[in-house]
Amino acid sequence: TMACLTAIDAGDALGAFVHKTPEIALEQARAADARLKAGDAPSMCGIPLGIKDLFCTKGVPSQAASNILGGFRPEYESTVTTKLFDAGAVMLGKLNMDEFAMGSSNETSCYGNAVNPWRRGNDDTALTPGGSSGGSAAAVAGDLCLAATGTDTGGSIRQPAAFTGIVGIKPTYGRVSRWGIVAFASSLDQAGPMTKTVQDAAIFLQAMAGHDPKDSTSADLPVPDFEAALTGDIRGKKIGLPREYRMDGMPAEIDKLWADGAAMLRDAGAEIVDISLPHTKYALPAYYVIAPAEASSNLARYDGVRYGHRAKLAAGDGITEMYEKTRAEGFGKEVQRRVMIGTYVLSAGFYDAYYNRARKVRALIKRDFEEAFAAGVDAILTPATPSAAFGLGEMSSADPIEMYLNDVFTVTVNLAGLPGVSVPVGLDKQGLPLGLQLIGRPWEEGDLLNHAYVLE
Ligand code: GLN
Repeated sequence: TMACLTAIDAGDALGAFVHKTPEIALEQARAADARLKAGDAPSMCGIPLGIKDLFCTKGVPSQAASNILGGFRPEYESTVTTKLFDAGAVMLGKLNMDEFAMGSSNETSCYGNAVNPWRRGNDDTALTPGGSSGGSAAAVAGDLCLAATGTDTGGSIRQPAAFTGIVGIKPTYGRVSRWGIVAFASSLDQAGPMTKTVQDAAIFLQAMAGHDPKDSTSADLPVPDFEAALTGDIRGKKIGLPREYRMDGMPAEIDKLWADGAAMLRDAGAEIVDISLPHTKYALPAYYVIAPAEASSNLARYDGVRYGHRAKLAAGDGITEMYEKTRAEGFGKEVQRRVMIGTYVLSAGFYDAYYNRARKVRALIKRDFEEAFAAGVDAILTPATPSAAFGLGEMSSADPIEMYLNDVFTVTVNLAGLPGVSVPVGLDKQGLPLGLQLIGRPWEEGDLLNHAYVLE
């Protein structure tokens, strides 16, 4: 913990920590020492973690990187952080992210962006750590903490993990409680670990998972021993390579990485098969209808009355002006865009044309995966991202759609509620990390991580 606190102070340039909690960290570390001395060593005992700013942490600023939550200190602790602390973990502070987890580059944060510790060869251009869990990725890759929490609605754990050469798993929807995590798109959001190794991910996921009566979508299922599943034995397993993920214009390096990953799994005794997930091409449009729709509804609560920021009002302003001014000042551009898209697709005249249609497409995407698994596929291997980390400002200045295209390989997994893990597998020509994604059967995170273990 002391070493991490020193590294965090020396690593301010990464912009990873937006709120440091050294007093809490030292107190938790001392308590962990005492537990160890007493012969009680829970799985996360004394492990110093960074916590994404999306998690409510009692008495500690929790702003989801938004000005609208300025000054908000929750009265309660999220289920995930409660479980981690019960398992002996130490909180070093809160981590940067895209505002309300909307973004793929960490550039929509009210704190300014986090920076990727990696560089392209000798080029000094600052690169994105990805998003929305960009601060988590930068902190783990930059050795400021041993691991971090992330959340993933359309790829926000897996894409930043791939951009920074670390491991990130989005569990099956319902595996981890969402209680006390600021909601973005409730039917897609899942929290998960971002770690240096697959083994760490298994231990960390075990500590954060499990049924929670406070989240009605949390599954009442036992949590298996994920670490015990890491045998490295995948003989006889069937790995699907979906042909629809072979995009036009995909860099040759990504193609090669994918083939290399498949070869590694084959060498370990798995059978590689070509599969088809025919509705893949509709996933991004469906996601960018469903996620904003749910976001517009979830973000209605930020009204200037209940939380954080309230605009200064002029004489004669009524409640409508208070809402309007507060939300115009408190929400950044991307969040405003999502609220407007979401409100539009849910409006009476357009509901069937957009929202209902997107829900139908979602069901078809889910069925594609079910059919692949029913045909005996154990895991699906794809690239995690269409490129390596890009330069800060390179995408955000372009059309927003350009940024949305980054999520092309990851959003299907959230729409289908499946577990997906991103594993660092190689470097591009400029020396930047590249990741592959493995997608597994629902509730089989152990088996999924075992495949990732072989690729690592
Ligand atoms: N980049 C995607 C979005 O902006 C995913 C974000 C996430 O997973 N939280 O919606």
